[in-house]
Order: sequence, then structure tokens, then C-alpha cells
Amino acid sequence: MRKTRLKKEGMVGMKLGIIGGTGFYGLLDDMSEESVNTEYGEVTVFQAVHEGKEIIFLPRHGKNHDTLAPFVNYRANMLAIKELGIERILAFSAVGAIHPDIQVGSLSLLEQFVDLTTRVKTYGRYSVDMTEPFCPELRHTFMEAANEIDEPLKTNATLICVDGPRYETKAEIQLYAAWGMDVVGMTNATEAALARELGMCYAVVTLATNMAPGITEKKPSLKAHKAVSESKKHRVRELMLTAIEHAREKESCTCHAAYESALLAQT
Ligand SMILES: [Zn+2]
Repeated sequence: MRKTRLKKEGMVGMKLGIIGGTGFYGLLDDMSEESVNTEYGEVTVFQAVHEGKEIIFLPRHGKNHDTLAPFVNYRANMLAIKELGIERILAFSAVGAIHPDIQVGSLSLLEQFVDLTTRVKTYGRYSVDMTEPFCPELRHTFMEAANEIDEPLKTNATLICVDGPRYETKAEIQLYAAWGMDVVGMTNATEAALARELGMCYAVVTLATNMAPGITEKKPSLKAHKAVSESKKHRVRELMLTAIEHAREKESCTCHAAYESALLAQT
């Protein structure tokens, strides 16, 4: 069962969720491991305080980074964050670049997605508006942070989300490129949909760790992915820390509207 260590540490300001990979373990000093039990399963998170904010870091692939994208327990992950009282999530993901202007090692901020995954990606209680799938205020937070640290950020990327864990065929990438897709990934559409169902704000910055198959002769590999992630680790950390500092309570976004309507309907 989760402990409530932070409550004993006195006053902290807003709570913020961070979702990322194992490269984030050193994101903050003094992170304490916690276990959260949800109706969908148990989830490991790490808690810390930064700039007066309570940070919950969730390693989406598990703390040993050994759960591949199709087997991640997305519903448990997102519900655990919700149950910890988080309303806003800043996420980070590695992707493959489809748009030829997106260089390996560059960062993109997702604006839209097309979801081809076949996994369960709903709590099955109601429909939510996904016209704008990512929180405009948190997207702005990421833009401010990138600007402050002088890191180039493509701000209008469209993700095609696929099941994985295999990489795509050349024909698939040609099709996605023809559709106008910028990057290909395996997790963010699922997280965005579940976050919206739970009334949480969610935005994602992606790191291109390879060019998608067929865009280049170089084939995607875990080794190349790890090398790019490692080389960019410090800049990504700086971006996330700056975004945490810039993050504010929600103002006028409507990410929580469907969730609140559903709650009202139950009363
Ligand atoms: Zn929002």
C-alpha cells in the first residue's frame, strides 16, 4: 500500500505527474518509491518535491523498463496517477521520425494523433471529446520551457500510434507519411485518451531516436535508440525541470470537462 510520506513533510504546492522512461530516474534528488494499488493492478511511482511542487514520476514501462509497449498496464498507470490527486501530466516519449525535417535527436511537441492500436484504451464509462487531444496549457508550458533553455522544439507534431513492439514496415511508413504523420510511437495516444477520461491534463514531448524504416537505409535498433537517448539525456532533463518550474494550475482548458460532467451525472 502506498505511504503518505509527503504529507508529513508539510506544505507543498500543486501536484504534477511526470511520465517517462528509465532515463528519468535521476530527474530529481531524493525520489521515494511508492506502490499504488488500483482496481487494474499495482503501479510503482516515485515521489519528490521540486520548486515547491509535489512530483509523481511514473516510469511507464515499469521500474526495470522491462514491460514492452503492448503489455504496459495503461489503465492502472493512469488511474494510479489520478488516485494520487494529480490533475496535470507532463510526459516524454521516444519516437521514430517520419517527417524528413525531424532530425534524430530532435524534440517535438505532439499536437494531434492518429491511433491504430488495438489494445483496450478506455475505462468504458463514457465518451470524451478528443478534438484537441493534448492540453493546450501544458503544451504552452513545454514551449515556454524549450524557449527558456534555447532548445529547438517542433510544436505541431502529429503522432501515429501503433501497437508495437515490432518496428514498422517500409510500406506502413510510406502510408503514414502520405497521411501527413510526423512521428511514430507506441504509447501516447493510449495515455492521452485515458487521461482525458480521468479529467487530467496531458501533454507530451517526444525525442526522435531513429528515422522510421524506409525514410533512411539505417534500420531502427534498441542500441541506436539507447545511444540517442543517452546523448540527449541532459537536455531532456533540463527541459522537464524547466517545464515543472513553469507549470501552473489549470486556467481555462477543458481537459476535465467530460470527467466532471460524468461525475455530476452520477449524483
Ligand atoms: Zn488541460
